[in-house]
Amino acid sequence: MNPSNFLKIKNKIPINVKILAVSKGFNSQEIKTIQSIGQNDFGESKVQEALEKQLILKDLKKIKWHFIGRIQSNKIRKIVQNFQYIHSVDSFEKLQKISYISREEKKNPSIMLQIKLSNDPTKGGFNPELLILKWREIKELKNIILTGLMTINPKGLSSKENFELFKKCRSLADSLELPDCSMGMSGDWKEAIDAGATWLRLGSLIFGDRY
Ligand SMILES: *Cc1c(COP(=O)(O)O)cnc(C)c1O
Repeated sequence: MNPSNFLKIKNKIPINVKILAVSKGFNSQEIKTIQSIGQNDFGESKVQEALEKQLILKDLKKIKWHFIGRIQSNKIRKIVQNFQYIHSVDSFEKLQKISYISREEKKNPSIMLQIKLSNDPTKGGFNPELLILKWREIKELKNIILTGLMTINPKGLSSKENFELFKKCRSLADSLELPDCSMGMSGDWKEAIDAGATWLRLGSLIFGDRY
C-alpha cells in the first residue's frame, strides 16, 4: 500500500463525491497511513474485526467509521454503539431495530438503505417496490438520519450494465428525495460517478490486494 497511490486516485474523483476507504482485511497501521494524508472515512464489514482496529486507533478522533457488511440482528447494538454510518441496512425489520436501539443508546446513526437491483443471490437488500410501499413507515422512524441508498452490483457486468444499474439507484434515491447513493467499488467506480454516486466504497484500489 502506497500513500501516493491514494492521492492519485483521489485526484481523479470529483470533490463532491466522497471516498469511503474500505479497510476490511487491512490492519490499523495501514488505516493510520491513509488517515495521515487526509482520509477520515473508513468502512468495515465485520463487527469484531472493526472493533479491534477501533480500539487501537481510538486516539484518531477524526476517523468516522462506516459499517458496510451484512447486518446480523444480534450485532445491531454493537454496530449502533461503534459506527456513525450504516450503509447496508437491508430490511425494514433491521431498520426498526436500529431505530429502537439507537434511541436506547442515545445515538443517531446516518443510514443508507441497501437496495437489490439484480437477481444476484449473494446480495441482499430492499426490493425497490417494497421500499416504496414501506416509505411512510420508514420516514417515521426516530433516531436515525436517513441519507440515502446503497447498492452493490454483481460481478462481471459490462461498463454499460454497471452504469444502468447505478442509474436505477440514483433515480430511486431522487424520487425519495434522498441525497446519497453509496455505490461503486474498485472495479466500477467510474460508472458510479457518471451515474451520480455520492459515496464510493473503495478497498483494493486504495489498499492493494487483500491478503
Ligand atoms: C469489500 C467491499 C467493498 C470494497 O471492495 P473493493 O473491490 O476492494 O473496492 C465495497 N463495498 C462492500 C459492501 C464491500 O464488502
